[in-house]
Amino acid sequence: MYSFQELHTFLSASSRLSVDLIINENKRSLFTVLAKKHGGIRISLHRMFLEAPLAVLESLSRYLQTGNKNFLTAISHFIDEKSYQRSYLQKVEAGAMHVIGDYYDLSAILIRLQEEYFENKGPNLITWFGQKKTRSRIIFGEYQPLLQLVKINKKLDHPSVPDYFVDYVVFHEMLHHMIPSSTLPSGRRSIHGPAFHKREKSYSHYQKAIEWQKKHKHLFF
Ligand SMILES: [Zn+2]
Repeated sequence: MYSFQELHTFLSASSRLSVDLIINENKRSLFTVLAKKHGGIRISLHRMFLEAPLAVLESLSRYLQTGNKNFLTAISHFIDEKSYQRSYLQKVEAGAMHVIGDYYDLSAILIRLQEEYFENKGPNLITWFGQKKTRSRIIFGEYQPLLQLVKINKKLDHPSVPDYFVDYVVFHEMLHHMIPSSTLPSGRRSIHGPAFHKREKSYSHYQKAIEWQKKHKHLFF
């Protein structure tokens, strides 16, 4: 683990540029070149880079120096690995797993979708999770790759929510297992890329589910 000062000094010295460094805690833009002018560069790096192996930091400074995108490979791998570990840290406590809701049984849905769409190669764990609010919208579901765990918001366990919509949310989260997120050369995370969207449409009630969601925004937003 480096201090901000150590990382700043390393990057400046090894790239031979005047580096203006910002440390961010973003979810998506983990590495961004904000401005570049002769002899200087302004970059924003996620806090995780304070723990990056030397080889990754060397690639980073070579990239800053040359702009050669080949140096981004090591950086992308590092980001992917760290992001994976971080999602593991969000794991649910044992005993907090529950699948039978008042209206919907998540295990039955998972088993059915496994057979219908995933040749039983999808994730095997699922749980409801308590009402979770961000500023203005609820999160319907989440997927945690290391645990292979699908989490579905309890708010969907309600008679006014049709089964094809609950299925859709479970299907969407299971799809994250099949098509993991990746890091683009720009440093941005690609979570729902073109391959994801294409496969998502193979869910047989996709249009119906999307339309239902649009019409019932008031229930969740
Ligand atoms: Zn998603």
